[in-house]
Amino acid sequence: MNNIPPVDLKQQYEAIASEVAPVVLEVLASGRYIGGPVVEAFEAEFAQSVGTSECVACNSGTDALFLALRALDIGPGDEVITSPFTFIATAEAIILAGATPVFVDIEAQTFNLDLQQVEAAITPRTRALLPVHLFGQPVDMTRLMAIAQAHQLAVVEDCAQATGAEWAGQTVGSIGHVGCFSFFPTKNLGACGDGGAVTTHDPAIAAAVRMLREHGSKERYLHEAVGVNSRLDAIQAAILRAKLKHLPAWNQQRRQRAARYHELLQPLPHITCPQAPTGGVSTWNQYTIRVKSQSPDRDTVRNRLQAKGISSMVYYPLPLHLQPVYQNLGYQPGQFPVAEQACQEVLSLPMFPDLTEEQQLAVTYGLKDSLTLA
Ligand SMILES: *Cc1c(COP(=O)(O)O)cnc(C)c1O
Repeated sequence: MNNIPPVDLKQQYEAIASEVAPVVLEVLASGRYIGGPVVEAFEAEFAQSVGTSECVACNSGTDALFLALRALDIGPGDEVITSPFTFIATAEAIILAGATPVFVDIEAQTFNLDLQQVEAAITPRTRALLPVHLFGQPVDMTRLMAIAQAHQLAVVEDCAQATGAEWAGQTVGSIGHVGCFSFFPTKNLGACGDGGAVTTHDPAIAAAVRMLREHGSKERYLHEAVGVNSRLDAIQAAILRAKLKHLPAWNQQRRQRAARYHELLQPLPHITCPQAPTGGVSTWNQYTIRVKSQSPDRDTVRNRLQAKGISSMVYYPLPLHLQPVYQNLGYQPGQFPVAEQACQEVLSLPMFPDLTEEQQLAVTYGLKDSLTLA
């Protein structure tokens, strides 16, 4: 048995090389490398797939979040409520916009924001809620939108791990005021480099994002705001257009792999399997179990799996409120016990559309062995 990687991007490329390579060569031959018809075509197709009227492509998911917050005029003095159990970029974008991230704890079962605590954290300075659909699992957007509406807050969805996920029949990124996507290679829709996008139903927000991604300019050499340079390359747009056609099937394959893991792993002692969402559809960007035993602990189990050639990942080992960079925000260990415990227990198993039955069985036996010895 060969080693099992956490994701297999080479294998994915090989399967669609005949669709991807020619469109890249077309862009190379076209001489239009930044902006232009290929980027515009991708924006239109991606908006359609999400179910919004607008999509503005940019350089990364991090930039998508930053541009969305800036377009909503969120900045110094404003608070944005988000999760401490996410990738650093979520909070980083809030701080780069000049606002203050306000963390609240997560739910143990979904790893997503605990909405009861969200409501309690709202102050007169709160301007927006920033839910993260972590690991592809959709946040309960019905409840979150009701809270936002009651307090007149903007909602910026971090959909970086959830391209194609749904809540109550609606695609994430079309439910809040703004959706932010990442096309980092390991995301469900990944480019062959960096990329991101902002989706919205609001033409004014889209226009503001477009202006900000282009040095704060709508008209060339006329600058209305301090913007950034954050565009999607035409080569990446061409690749993403080719891959977008496969996304529904890939997400379906991930769902099948997740259901199979559930069957295989549910009987094992000392672990908790992630649950499929009841009100929506997950994209299973990660299949993340919890290792509940102290001996062997999660890190020991991970090392044992590695020794058997099975890769696993820890997303995330340290919650954002305890990161050295955010010590000035004044949070203390113990403040968000559910997030902190998750950081000790989570283990993301190999998950990608082409994961085979043989590989899933190998992960199962490997995990069983790794969990049994003390
Ligand atoms: C990947 C990711 C981002 C950032 O996306 P980049 O394209 O890498 O900048 C933001 N939030 C979450 C939850 C992510 O997983």
